[in-house]
Amino acid sequence: MDPEILSHSGFVSLIGRPNVGKSTLLNQLAGQRLAITSPKPQTTRSIIRAIIDEPDTQIVFLDTPGLHLAKSKLGQYMTDAARLAMADTDIILLLIEAGFSPRVLDIERKVLAQLQASKKPVILVINKVDSNEKESILPLMAAFHEVYPFQAIIPISAKTGDGISILIDEIRRLLPEGPRYFPIDSLTDQTERMIAGELIREQILLKTHEEIPHGTAVVVDSFTEHTTEAGERTHVTIEASIVCEKDTHKGILIGKQGSMLTAIGTGARKEIEAMLDCPCYLDLFVRVRDDWRNRQSILNDLGYQD
Ligand code: GDP
Ligand code: MG
Repeated sequence: MDPEILSHSGFVSLIGRPNVGKSTLLNQLAGQRLAITSPKPQTTRSIIRAIIDEPDTQIVFLDTPGLHLAKSKLGQYMTDAARLAMADTDIILLLIEAGFSPRVLDIERKVLAQLQASKKPVILVINKVDSNEKESILPLMAAFHEVYPFQAIIPISAKTGDGISILIDEIRRLLPEGPRYFPIDSLTDQTERMIAGELIREQILLKTHEEIPHGTAVVVDSFTEHTTEAGERTHVTIEASIVCEKDTHKGILIGKQGSMLTAIGTGARKEIEAMLDCPCYLDLFVRVRDDWRNRQSILNDLGYQD
């Protein structure tokens, strides 16, 4: 059967400095439409955070990883986030907050320079308009307008929901035709598996830094829950593949005598155990595949096998 083609379909990433309101906006988006609830919201990171699913439209919102990095690493985080956002998405939302003096910060300039090269549409979203004077917003819009050709500049309040429907309309306008990437029924019970894959991907990003082979994907091959007779979960066994493009990338990911893979695995296991609240046995493999650069790989990356 041919897949149903929607008139608007695609992936949207959200980037912005800590505290500008990314989580609040994603929660607002999820709350308005379809929520993919994670088992422990406080630990979720780079995962699908909201999907707007309508007869002619599917918009998948992705969150970016590395939320808890130290200040000194912020520049690295922002540029990594921008890089990931560009690889995976059709549209990028750069979130800033109203109320600061109306200028573009260095970190935002840096990110914008990267985004420019990607030629993907970028929407500037100015958050927290509810707690700031209207007059402070125009100069901010002007300052950003001067440095970048945004597709749109949209003031919102993630808290009150003000401006959100304008933002969604703008995103819909920019999205191409495409399939319904996520069959909605199958989503909710896969969340832990999805998050596990993302936590592994986050560790790859954190541990390899600039060396991270661009576009490396994580495929969760198996996710097995072990329970007591009473049905209580005792532990989880996860097998996952890190899929990269070249043998040289594989070498980086494995490291000297496996040291890199061990570091990635140890870091990911800790994060996964915190999320699942039980012990986790994690087996990681590195595989080379050269056709990852397509949409199906994003689905795989998030735990959906073909
Ligand atoms: P993140 O670090 O970018 O994910 O930011 P958060 O979503 O965690 O928000 C940081 C802080 O800003 C929280 O205290 C939020 O309640 C607050 N905040 C987020 N959006 C708004 C908004 O639209 N208006 C106001 N007044 N506060 C907001
Ligand atoms: Mg947040």
